[in-house]
Amino acid sequence: MRKEAWDKIHIKNLEVFGKHGVLPEENRLGQKFQINAALYLHTREAGLRDDLRKTIHYGEVSRFMTSFMMEHTFQLIETAAEQMARAVLLQFPSMEKIRLEVLKPWAPIGLPLESVSVEIERGWHQVFVAIGSNLGEREDYIAMGLEGLGQCEDCKVEQVSEIITTKPYGVTEQPEFLNGMIKLKTLLSPQELLQELHRIEQEAGRERLVHWGPRTLDLDIIFYDDWVIDTEELQVPHPDMQNRAFVLQPLAELAPFLRHPLFNKTVTQMLKEL
Ligand code: ADP
Ligand code: MG
Repeated sequence: MRKEAWDKIHIKNLEVFGKHGVLPEENRLGQKFQINAALYLHTREAGLRDDLRKTIHYGEVSRFMTSFMMEHTFQLIETAAEQMARAVLLQFPSMEKIRLEVLKPWAPIGLPLESVSVEIERGWHQVFVAIGSNLGEREDYIAMGLEGLGQCEDCKVEQVSEIITTKPYGVTEQPEFLNGMIKLKTLLSPQELLQELHRIEQEAGRERLVHWGPRTLDLDIIFYDDWVIDTEELQVPHPDMQNRAFVLQPLAELAPFLRHPLFNKTVTQMLKEL
């Protein structure tokens, strides 16, 4: 499977005077910083139509980064890079990804180095989150889950499937479920997103009593890009998704041709084989 290639706009050697550093003198006197950035986006339409509105204005990005570096004071250039990458991605929505290097050419370490820098790459990730409830006011809990995700600053909910009613799975002596699928973009790592989902579940009053038992709100990560994660607290793609119609059916509504990175099957295929 060939992946789409992103176009890039490069900003090289933008100089900013800032006060970032661990030493008090650095925070007081300030020093020169340099920024290199690669902005990942699609420029095809802008290129064909010669239309500035279809691309990202590198002047605006440069001005934004300059203000950001001057208005904040961080100890670490790691933090300056991390926070600035996030701010830029939130400010310029058509940017898919940014590679950002923050250099400190005058780093006061008492040795004649040319410069020291931190380079990071940050961007939006495509995620599918399954939502379910089978306890109490189920519609309200589903609504609370959607609202919780809507309030997550580092998430953009793009689509929500129809919410379907399904028979319980695993422990069968319990009320029927409401199930749905949410397509979203996020800047969070998979572990950070899982924490956020747990926080939203907790706020909806979920108590973890019985595994597979009744719950007010269940939020599971089904896909995170095409990543494969296999740790104790998190497995992605969700290890049981191929066996669950209540996952595959709403997922097929949003992404019928999405391919499972391990089984190499589309959602439609997995649903048919169930
Ligand atoms: P389930 O969703 O399987 O019915 P729980 O919601 O109680 O059960 O989840 C139990 C644990 O599963 C969570 O605490 C979490 O650490 C872990 N987990 C592993 N992979 C995932 C995933 N892809 N999405 C959500 N939770 C996951
Ligand atoms: Mg869960």
